[in-house]
Order: sequence, then structure tokens, then C-alpha cells
Amino acid sequence: MTKVAAVILVGNAAEAERQARMAFGKGADLVELRLDGIAGLRTETVRHLARALGERAIATLRSQSQGGESRESRAGRASLMREICGQRFAYVDLELEADAEGLDALARAASRHGTKVIVSHHFAEAVDVRNRVSKAIDACEAHGDVAKVVLPVGDLDGAIQLVDLARSRTAGRPLILIGTGPAGMLTRALAGAMGAEIQFAAWGRAATPGQFVLSTAARLRGREPTVLGLVGHPLEHSVSPVIHETALAALDLPAVYLPFDLSPGSLEAFWLAMDRLRIRGFNVTHPLKESVAQRVDEMDADAERLGAVNTVVVDDGWTNGHNTDVYGFRVSLRALGLRVGGRSALVVGAGGAAKAVVHVLLREGASVQVTNRTIARADALADSFDEPVAVVPMRDLERSGPWDLLVNATPIGMKGIENRLPVPEAIVAKAAFIYDLVYNPTTTPLLLVAQRLNRPGTSGLDMLLHQAAKAFELWTGASAPFEAMRRAAKEALR
Ligand code: NAP
Repeated sequence: MTKVAAVILVGNAAEAERQARMAFGKGADLVELRLDGIAGLRTETVRHLARALGERAIATLRSQSQGGESRESRAGRASLMREICGQRFAYVDLELEADAEGLDALARAASRHGTKVIVSHHFAEAVDVRNRVSKAIDACEAHGDVAKVVLPVGDLDGAIQLVDLARSRTAGRPLILIGTGPAGMLTRALAGAMGAEIQFAAWGRAATPGQFVLSTAARLRGREPTVLGLVGHPLEHSVSPVIHETALAALDLPAVYLPFDLSPGSLEAFWLAMDRLRIRGFNVTHPLKESVAQRVDEMDADAERLGAVNTVVVDDGWTNGHNTDVYGFRVSLRALGLRVGGRSALVVGAGGAAKAVVHVLLREGASVQVTNRTIARADALADSFDEPVAVVPMRDLERSGPWDLLVNATPIGMKGIENRLPVPEAIVAKAAFIYDLVYNPTTTPLLLVAQRLNRPGTSGLDMLLHQAAKAFELWTGASAPFEAMRRAAKEALR
């Protein structure tokens, strides 16, 4: 079984010891003592740590050239490594390049104490997997008990290549093959299936990008994890990973939720690899909701009606598409006690979110007007419904209304996007309730104006949470821990 090692990277030995004991208490099998983080490392410190923690520790003196903090001269490093290998640790990490000269002698010295020898190589940049990574594994294997090769992974294809390479070698010696960065998280999720000897987990700050926190790694240990995730681009600002990780942790489910930053061109590769990568479900965001709708084997009525899918359930290779945005908006209206049947609504925007909102409002019996920057797009949205939808150009809003509900379905007000109102304040004043689909920040310029005008309103956070809860339930069959998800989202959006 893959062992979970919490990476302890702190400035002094006493703190390393304290943190290591805490990590054991939280379920770590091992700790990786990053000796390169310890200021002024001395032989006595190495001996003390070996006595205190050695049985369950990996001793690593990561050189700067391999992404670590050790600035030792060659002679200084050689002497420290002799000292480290002279002590009893569960594992010692020898570097293929920095320790090249004395590699076999160091490995023999470590083995004499029953210490397992990891020989590692960290590439600074993405390299050809079939050629250079394979060769690096061979070279590490030639000198140690466990080969460890780490490299940045820029895209899904790179991660898939690493997974396939590790699986093709599992009959050989123990191997740790890690892709770093968000795209490489797949190699951490599938560490068990890749035959990894050790899963390195973050304790405090992550030592490398994409590392799971200890609680996630411990949750997956010895279980066959299911992979869930989010496809689209860009994904950096999404709070969905935080929301779903919180839910999976709360229910102790053996699954992870990963970001898959894909362009429309790489959707095909994702689709073909889904089964191999144990992907059992995913959310879909901009710009892939329509392309995914074209690909799924089956769709629920809402997704079919809108031609847009934001949640896919994968069951034995069969893909079932859903539109939980529709569900999220519908349920949030109910949760707010907003009965829109027979009432009037103005929807600002004519993209995918606006279409989902109009669909719900019409189904609930509201009379709907739509306005948009590009009026032809609003016309197309209106034409896509059988029920009447009135299109009002922005300049004519002054002469329209009042409305019981105003919905902003544009990104205006979102963090990093234009910090202004989607319609003038005089138009906002003509609405009784203001619903801003934007949820980051949760207090948008539009909601601030609504407050000032004494109008009740809400951000898109509840809709986001309800759609996430529905997706979670479709994937896992478990009831979503809604309040925990809400707390996590609020914290992430602070
Ligand atoms: P979309 O398909 O790209 O549509 C964007 C809409 O906003 C279009 O009507 C576009 O007008 C308009 N727009 C964009 N930038 C504008 C600007 N600078 N000035 C005026 N109008 C502008 O996007 P979407 O998927 O519908 O999403 C829209 C918003 O809803 C996003 O902010 C998203 O975060 C939010 N949303 C929230 C939830 C939730 O759960 N709370 C769910 C889905 C979406 P043009 O037609 O003229 O380009």
C-alpha cells in the first residue's frame, strides 16, 4: 500500500520534531524531514532527528538545483550526506545529480542500517516523458531501492503520459513518479494505481505545487479513488474544488475533485482517457458547456432543452449530462421564498447563465424581459423558447418596468471584471428584488446599490451551492453536506 508522508519543511530541528509528531497524530505514516530547510544543519542535529523520528522518517537534503533550499558546497553536502546515511532512517533521499560522485557508497552505507534508499531526480521543466523521464527512472533504479522522478506537468496530456508510464512499469522496482502543478494532480490522485511507494502530502505550506494536503492523502490511502473534477478554462478562480473537497472530506469518501484546464481542442483526449483515469463525474464550465452537450450519451430534460451541460456522470463508460445550473437557480428561488409565478422579471445578459435563468422563470410562470449588450444575442435567446420572451434594448429600459425581479446574468461586478453596474441605478430602482448571479465577491456593486435603495437581494452563491450539491449527489449518491460546503465557499471567497 502507498504510504503517506507529510512533508516537514521548517527552520529548526525542535520545530520539525514537534510538527512531525502532530502529522503522525493526523494520520501520516511517515514524515519527510526536509533537512535543507533547517538553518545551519549540524551532524548533531541529524543524529538527534534520527534518534527521535528516524524509524518513521525520510531524510532529505534537497539541493537548490533540485528545487530545495540547501546551499551546501559539494564538500559540505558530501560530508552531511555521509552523516545522514550513517544514521537509521526509514528512507533516505539521494539525488541522482548532486550525490552522483558518492552515490553507491552512500546507498551501501544507508542500507547497512536497514534504511531504504530513494534515488531522486527533479526536472525543472516539462520534458519528453517517453524518452527523458524513462531514462531518469532507469538511472535512479540502478542505484537505489526506490526511484523517484518529479517533473512539472503543463497539461492533461502530460499527466496521462506519466500515469501510463508508471502503470507500464509497476512490475519493476518501487517507483514514485510525480507531475507537479495543477495538471499533475492526477498523478497524485492515482498514486496507488501507479504503484507509488510514497504519497508526499503537504503539511503547512505545500512543498511543491499540486501536492494534496495530508487529510486528503490519508483519506485516499489504500482505497481505490474515484476522480471527479471541473473541465473548462480558465479555472484558477473557481471555488468548486474547495466546495467539493470539503464535501468529500466531510463524508470521508475515497474521491478527489481536480481542475482539468482544457481548451475545446483537448476535450477529445480527456474523453478518451476518462475510463483509464477513473473519472466518474465532472462539472463543466466556460467555454465547454455546449461542446460537452454534443458529446454526452444522454441528457436530462433541462440540459437537452438548453443544449448546455454543466455536470456529467460517468457510469461504466456511459456519459449522462445534466444542467444543475437550472436546478441551482430554481431551488435558490424557493429557498429565498421568491414566488415568481405571474410576476415580471428582467434578465440582463443573454449567455448560457441567462438562458438557464429564463428557462426557470418561464417554467415557474413569470413574464420575462431580456436585455443585453449585443441585442442580436438577446433575440436569439428569446427565439430559442416557445413561450414569449420580450427583448428590450438597454436604451429602452428607462421606459420599461417596473419588475418584481431583476437578474444580472453578466459577469459585470465579478472580481477582475468591470467594477460597475450592469444597468444604471435608475433601472435598479425599478426592481423589487435584485438577484446577482455573480458570487465573487458576494457583495457586488449591484448588491451595494440595492442595499442603498432598500431593495432585498442576493448574490449567486446560493445558486452555486445548490448546483454543486446536486452534482455531488448525482456522483456519489450521498446527501451533500450543504452547510459545510457553504462555510468552505464563504471562507474561500473572503
Ligand atoms: P456567457 O455565456 O459568456 O455570457 C456572458 C453575458 O454577459 C453575455 O450576455 C455578454 O454580452 C454579457 N457580458 C459580458 N461581458 C460584458 C460586459 N463587459 N458588458 C456588458 N455585457 C457583458 O457567460 P455565462 O455562462 O452566461 O455567465 C454569466 C455570468 O453568470 C458569469 O459571471 C458567471 O460567473 C455567472 N454564473 C453564475 C452561476 C452561479 O451559480 N451563481 C452559474 C453560471 C454563471 P454579449 O452577448 O454582448 O457578449
